Parts: sequence; structure tokens; C-alpha cells
Amino acid sequence: MSNLNLLAFTYGSNDTRAEIEFRPVFPEAIRGDSDQIDEWARTLLASMYKDLKHTDNWTCEICGDPARDAKYDIAIRTHLPTPDIVLYIHSICEEGNNLCTKTLQVQSDHMASLGGLSPGFMDRNRLKPASKPFPLSGSCLNCQEDNTVNSTPSRCGGCKLVRYCSTECQSADWKRHKKICKVIKSVKWADDRARLFGDRRNLAQQVQASAV
Ligand SMILES: [Zn+2]
Ligand SMILES: [Zn+2]
Ligand SMILES: [Zn+2]
Repeated sequence: MSNLNLLAFTYGSNDTRAEIEFRPVFPEAIRGDSDQIDEWARTLLASMYKDLKHTDNWTCEICGDPARDAKYDIAIRTHLPTPDIVLYIHSICEEGNNLCTKTLQVQSDHMASLGGLSPGFMDRNRLKPASKPFPLSGSCLNCQEDNTVNSTPSRCGGCKLVRYCSTECQSADWKRHKKICKVIKSVKWADDRARLFGDRRNLAQQVQASAV
């Protein structure tokens, strides 16, 4: 088994962000085969779709409404001795032909034109009930009920990434989630508080300068 550098960045509105570092290994047999590593990585990421989405009360990067979906852009460099993959997860109110989807598409087309980004994916295997919108990103990973957003879901103690509304939901999902849980190495959260402090520092400097 060989190593792979895999990082994911999740973005929401107001500069909210999470940085997720993974420690995946890929079968030694496919080392050096860019196409197979690419395929292997995409399959792995597709299996994590839910785990990467239900991680916080994300809001749409464009309009700021609660996010119900995520758009994935991938930068894959599989020809390196240690292949390198970066996943960009953009929180979006709802996938569809709306202004937010179009804006994010323009953004990723621009990134792709600068090089390095290969076509991203959205989970095509989701079953969307005709009567219901997709579950909120902030809801419990297991039951995915919208009302669990307000019931202070707690994080998995292993990966410190995904959230559940109850220990029952966590137990019910463990058999599936544990494979993903063990490849998550670390999670860093950044939010607009950092930015606010930055702005405040600037403001403080201005105030200080004007007082001199
Ligand atoms: Zn939106
Ligand atoms: Zn639940
Ligand atoms: Zn976990």
C-alpha cells in the first residue's frame, strides 16, 4: 500500500472554512498508473460524500442561505511519486439551475482554465424524494432530519468531523462511517471570527494612527 496526499477544503459563506487532512493509502499495484489512481481516488471521495457534507451548519457560499448541497472540484496530481489530491467543497443552497449553481460553475471553470483542476463531481447517486429538498448540511449524518440542525448535534470523537443528533444515530452509522473515520487525520476550523479579529486589528491600528 502506498501513500497519497489528500486534503479537502470546505467553504461556506462569510469566509467560513474547514481544512481536512486525510491519511489514505492506495493499492501498491496501481502505483505509477495515473488513470487508475485517479479512478481509485474518485471512488474513495464518492464514498465519503455524506461524511464531507454533514459536518457543520454550512451556508451557501453565494447567497448565505443554509446549505443543502455541495459542489466538489478536484485538483489531482497523480504522476508524482506521492500523488497529491486537493478537494474543494463548495457549500451551496441547493443544486439546480439557479444563480448560485451558475456562479459556482463560473468560478470552477475559471479555476480549471488556470490549470490544475479536473472536472469535479456531485454525487449522482443520491435519491432525491420528489416532495422533499436535500437534507441540510448541518443535519445529523445518519437521520438527516432538518430539525436536528437545532438540536446541537455532537461530533464523532474519532474524526471530529461528522455530526450526529444522538448516540443512537452514531451507533446506527458506525459500521459504514468507521472506514472513512480512520482515514481522516485532522480537521481545522476557520470562521469569520478570525477575519473579524483581523479587521478589528486594522481598525485598532487606524484608530491608533489617527489619535497620534
Ligand atoms: Zn445560494
Ligand atoms: Zn440523527
Ligand atoms: Zn468519525
